[in-house]
Amino acid sequence: MAVLEHLTSQQAIDLENKYGAHNYHPLPVVLSRGEGVYVWDVEGKKYYDFLSAYSAVNQGHCHPKIVGAMTEQAKTLTLTSRAFYNDMLGKYEQYATRTFGFDKLLPMNTGAEAVETALKICRRWAYQKKNIPENLAQVIVCENNFHGRTTTIISFSNDPVAREDYGPYTEGFIKIEYDNLTALENALENNPNVAGFLVEPIQGEAGVYVPSEGYLKKAKALCEKYNVLFIADEVQTGIARTGKMLAVDHENVKPDILILGKALSGGVYPVSAVLANDDIMEVITPGSHGSTFGGNPVAAAVAIAALEVVEEEELAQNAEELGKVFREELNKFIPTCDLVVKVRGKGLLNAIVINDTEDSSTAWDICMSLKENGLLAKPTHGNIIRFAPPLVMNREQLMDCVSIIVKTLQTFKK
Ligand SMILES: *Cc1c(COP(=O)(O)O)cnc(C)c1O
Repeated sequence: MAVLEHLTSQQAIDLENKYGAHNYHPLPVVLSRGEGVYVWDVEGKKYYDFLSAYSAVNQGHCHPKIVGAMTEQAKTLTLTSRAFYNDMLGKYEQYATRTFGFDKLLPMNTGAEAVETALKICRRWAYQKKNIPENLAQVIVCENNFHGRTTTIISFSNDPVAREDYGPYTEGFIKIEYDNLTALENALENNPNVAGFLVEPIQGEAGVYVPSEGYLKKAKALCEKYNVLFIADEVQTGIARTGKMLAVDHENVKPDILILGKALSGGVYPVSAVLANDDIMEVITPGSHGSTFGGNPVAAAVAIAALEVVEEEELAQNAEELGKVFREELNKFIPTCDLVVKVRGKGLLNAIVINDTEDSSTAWDICMSLKENGLLAKPTHGNIIRFAPPLVMNREQLMDCVSIIVKTLQTFKK
């Protein structure tokens, strides 16, 4: 078989199964093209994308402005490493720090790397600024967190599938219940060695758990009281997904350390970042952290364009408005059936909870049926289906999607 021969879906799936490691269990659909809110499979069938690559493609597939910025820069200069300066990184750092209101940005590539970077900054700050004794710094994290897949990050995950047989695990983490301020205060008081609190403003992978109103604001205040850094992982919730530029903006919270990834590039290139003010970021010194590709000129050009698109096309407002419509429409349907327990979310990050046991295949079967009906979504943990379309969707398209979802759910009606 010639490498570039046109493949059927089954051939493409067979190739991945035979030659690729089996670290994912994809829905059996093979995509070969995307534009805006749509993707097409190799047989030419068109779908609404209701996952957006886990919220990386907020600006829509192959956004011409972002792809244009990428291809222009790719023809000019792609990589210098940070051994030399390049003429794009500073412009990007200026634009992004102004956009998010921080003194400085540290560029990385993937979300997990940015989380690792934030943890390293937090630990250094603990020793150099808070005077925690050597090797004793601790970071508080939440149960059912998802922060990525590195050895350290899975060390403080409580997902057995993500952790099993990957030990020994990294020390220095305290796990508390999410959305529980008493648990946070208990973990903070009488423990002078706590350096940071790492939290997702909405737990995405866990099933789109939205915390109680005021949780983030009060958690931030507790962190201030105990001189602990509030670290917001906005890799999934950031860049307009929840109806504001950042999910913490809903409660006017300013994190000490902000972690971004995914839609920071509009899904065209791996770009992640950690932002903080000088009093924190200055603990990072030459040689103490880095990445060959982090801050490369293509990434910088792409990220500027991706952030400009969010502002120019008012994607936060669109997510806010369409999110309300989406939950309203589904809430009209839910009382009429026993299959769906509820819909929850903020902006265009939503999920429905299916009324079945955690290990049943109902959510998967519904996603298979949605696929047949022209809409792609994927179950998260347990029987929960996340719905996160690109934010460039319009109202008419959204109503079309609601009708596909409702019609599909009706065929499963118990
Ligand atoms: C996806 C995600 C990550 C990890 O990002 P990768 O680019 O896959 O490494 C980290 N935190 C959150 C909240 C995420 O959703």
